[in-house]
Amino acid sequence: MNFLEVSERFTEMSNTSKRLELTDILVRLLKSADKDLKKLVYLTQGKLLPDYEGLELGMANKLIIKALSSISGKKEEEIDVMFTKEGDLGTVAKLISEKKTQNSLFTSELSVDYVYDELTKLARIKGEGSIKNKMGIYQDLLLNATPDEGMYITRIITGRLRLGVSDATILDALVLAFADKKYSDEIDEAYNFHPDLGELAELLREGKLDRVLSTGPTPMVPAKVMLGERLREIPDVLEKMGGKAAFEYKYDGLRTQIHIKDGKVKIFSRGSEETTSNFPDIVEHARQTFNVESCILDGEAVPYNSETGELYPFQMVSQRRGRKYDLKSKVEEIPVVVFLFDIIYLNGEPLNKMPYLERRKMLESLFTENDDFKCATMLLSSDVEEINRFFTEAINSGCEGLMAKNVSEDSIYRAGARGWLWIKFKRDYQSSFEDTLDLVIIGAFGGHGRRKGTYGALLMATYNKDQDVFESICKLGTGFTDDVLFGLPARLSDFVTKKKPARVESGLVPDVWFDPQAVLEIIGAEITISPVHSCAYGKVQKEAGLAIRFPRFTGRWRDDKTPEDATTTEEILEMYYSQKKVG
Ligand code: ATP
Repeated sequence: MNFLEVSERFTEMSNTSKRLELTDILVRLLKSADKDLKKLVYLTQGKLLPDYEGLELGMANKLIIKALSSISGKKEEEIDVMFTKEGDLGTVAKLISEKKTQNSLFTSELSVDYVYDELTKLARIKGEGSIKNKMGIYQDLLLNATPDEGMYITRIITGRLRLGVSDATILDALVLAFADKKYSDEIDEAYNFHPDLGELAELLREGKLDRVLSTGPTPMVPAKVMLGERLREIPDVLEKMGGKAAFEYKYDGLRTQIHIKDGKVKIFSRGSEETTSNFPDIVEHARQTFNVESCILDGEAVPYNSETGELYPFQMVSQRRGRKYDLKSKVEEIPVVVFLFDIIYLNGEPLNKMPYLERRKMLESLFTENDDFKCATMLLSSDVEEINRFFTEAINSGCEGLMAKNVSEDSIYRAGARGWLWIKFKRDYQSSFEDTLDLVIIGAFGGHGRRKGTYGALLMATYNKDQDVFESICKLGTGFTDDVLFGLPARLSDFVTKKKPARVESGLVPDVWFDPQAVLEIIGAEITISPVHSCAYGKVQKEAGLAIRFPRFTGRWRDDKTPEDATTTEEILEMYYSQKKVG
């Protein structure tokens, strides 16, 4: 397949502001691929391989500017000025190529295979002379590219392709292009255990649906984590769980998925990011504790005081993430204990279809508890009084509340799903608002008076998982310190778009639209009916949506969450109904 065709489809995708049209274009693009479908899918994701493979393109902006300067004969400073004006090196590459094409003698057609293979070469270059070689590959690609192709190649290299499609959108399009829609839930589940869209695309195109449907947890490949719904009354939890449940302490730490295979250990975060290098201590302790050929464990890493055993707040572990330099002192200063609550794979056998209590039994018999690994404290009960006492104990031990787990025969491990098999019950729920929410920034309104020069308010959205769109729910203008407030335009500048992104639904038109990327934690007073917001539009009342009254930023940017991990429209609906019930 020619890369030119891909670049034409990419332009159509960037130009549409309608979600369905976006999928249609994507389906057409995927269908026109052949053996190169896998590579096409990765390029559409703006990647070369799934994230967990750790292959990064890694060409700094400075290097791109140097390469563009040498192609165009313009000074680096001039390119820098163009970059500041356009805000995107892809556009700069396009402008330069447009000039160049007028007097170039020869361009050969680029294929998807060729572009992908050259970019892979570029990504793998290491060692001496790597800068020169990387620049050489990039310049060769540009010299043979049309201006638009050059723009997309540059955007892929700089990690800014931003076509407005998420993995969920691509997955949806793959099902429409190559499978029967009735399998979409099962295909989704397979993807959640093995999040490799390129591989999945190839299997579907080749008609190997059986292979897809039998995909389960795989050691060294991060499974999307299972998530819980929320309720605020124990009797409601018990009712949902069929009268009885396993209640576990809900630890306030970092979700930690531990993979072991043939003596090798890998650690993944809640967002499937590999964090092995941040936790050399957990790696070492896991080797000592688990005598297995292979396994996948799910748990929460919590910092603690090694003298008193007291648990510390989660912020202390988060200091470890992304740290390269003084990690060693942090490891000694902040030891962590991992409270394990699940096992989904053991010695060649997937366990995800086993009921929860059987998995828990396997987990308990797998190791002897020590300072580094423990099983989450658990109570199997149907007695409200007893559960309430257990809840108080959890809070007194430094936990956030309880996590109730379904114990029926159907209590499988559902990767990537937020469902009623797990229900969280937190201390915050006893305040007026049930919980903090994680909302996505989709727009902003210009500031006036004291806020001149920054934004007066942000337009926030929930994620509607069924429709794969972001729906506006409130304007957020309080809870910001001056530093954060005046830093907003710079912090969000990368996400500014010229018009409403296709996957955004909003009744309000802000002064600036953003690509839905940044996630903020907010707290509010109440969920109310709103004539202007799009969240759950028409679900509670005709021609009205839902909004949050008095939203306030808690100060926490949820950089660990993708926009698709934000609070969903469905959760807001549930919160609205449960608030009504109590109120
Ligand atoms: P979520 O992860 O549900 O999107 P969140 O990141 O805001 O939301 P919480 O609402 O606090 O987190 O609750 C879920 C998290 O609680 C899990 O992702 C996990 O990290 C943590 N957790 C702590 N103890 C347990 C437990 N016993 N079982 C399951 N999860 C637990």
